[in-house]
Amino acid sequence: MDRKGILIVVSGFSGSGKGTLMKELLSRYPDTYALSVSATTRRPRDGEQDGREYFFITEDEFEKMIAKEELIEYARYVKNYYGTPKEYVRKQLDAGKDVILEIEIQGALKVKEAFPDTLLLFVTPPNAEELKKRLVGRGTETMDVIESRMNRACEEAEGMGHYDYLVVNDDLELCVEEMHTIIQGEHRRSFRNEAFMKTIKEDLERLKGEN
Ligand code: ADP
Ligand code: 5GP
Repeated sequence: MDRKGILIVVSGFSGSGKGTLMKELLSRYPDTYALSVSATTRRPRDGEQDGREYFFITEDEFEKMIAKEELIEYARYVKNYYGTPKEYVRKQLDAGKDVILEIEIQGALKVKEAFPDTLLLFVTPPNAEELKKRLVGRGTETMDVIESRMNRACEEAEGMGHYDYLVVNDDLELCVEEMHTIIQGEHRRSFRNEAFMKTIKEDLERLKGEN
């Protein structure tokens, strides 16, 4: 069967566990997936490294990337710019990897518009209380920022219906495997296997003719 890489967008409320899930998925299946590294104007959090979690750049640099059309999409999220550089994504898809963009909803919808075959996954915690608990527990933001992220979550919840699948991140282990199963199942969709269908149809015709 065809093994073209699939473009996957993973969105979800801040604190739902997307970053944790992605890290685990990539470490279990390093040959299958590639995670796109976004550019952002927000400050790095403790432990984040330039070029690994994000390319941390200035507003000026970001606006230059926009002008040069080097981004697949970009959006503003709680006062900062975030965007997906084109080059890396194209290379990884060509190499047969399933490429994951971990981006917010405005960006997700722009990607879907530009590339309709994109698979859209939305990660949620099992309930709203758990989201607040995780945001507070992560300890990386002030209460002010946590509040704006909870407000943003209310807006984002309105868009969940645009996604192909909801992925409930309750037990991390189970969630990682579920996500892998969904993505690998996606490779079997008939519209992603045009070449295979064409070959088998032609072979059937040929064999029929031989009798
Ligand atoms: P996001 O990338 O969506 O903002 P993170 O991956 O940073 O979220 O996770 C937010 C917090 O929740 C972190 O402290 C992380 O360790 C924790 N977390 C992630 N997944 C789970 C889970 N399944 N159960 C409990 N805690 C989790
Ligand atoms: P954080 O600051 O928590 O790392 O990310 C904030 C939000 O920005 C998250 O919802 C994350 O998915 C989103 N994000 C990260 N990179 C991009 C990107 O390249 N484009 C868009 N549109 N959103 C992004």
